[in-house]
Amino acid sequence: MTIFSKIIAGDIPCYKVAEDDKFFAFLDINPLAKGHTLVVPKQEVDYIFDLSDADLAAMHVFAKHVALAIGKAFPCKKVGEAVLGLEVPHAHIHLVPMQSEKDLLFSNPKLKLTDEEFKEVAEAIRKAL
Ligand code: AMP
Repeated sequence: MTIFSKIIAGDIPCYKVAEDDKFFAFLDINPLAKGHTLVVPKQEVDYIFDLSDADLAAMHVFAKHVALAIGKAFPCKKVGEAVLGLEVPHAHIHLVPMQSEKDLLFSNPKLKLTDEEFKEVAEAIRKAL
């Protein structure tokens, strides 16, 4: 079971943003910016491009709704999307509010947010959904 499957199952805590029958969204614990969110399929697949065409498309539609809510909650030029998957072997899309292209550099120092701040960020996105 991947760490993200444990999060989806509720065995590991997270700051949940959204969920439907196939996908789950929660805050990245090492955010590049306030609002940095991960979208994951409930199906345990490592490489995103191993998803079926239908699931890959549906994952992006789900991510779109979350991204639009992130943009409302955290005004930015655009919400950027990135797929790396080098650390956690469970497909996921990073959604990151951007003021400039530099905001999507994963080598940037990560924000340190308190538990209260993470809760406020997740709540703000949920309200904007
Ligand atoms: P990558 O697999 O390279 O896309 O990176 C995995 C991402 O998952 C990183 O940005 C981590 O900060 C994030 N991450 C790892 N564990 C957790 C967790 N328990 N809760 C939230 N985010 C996590």
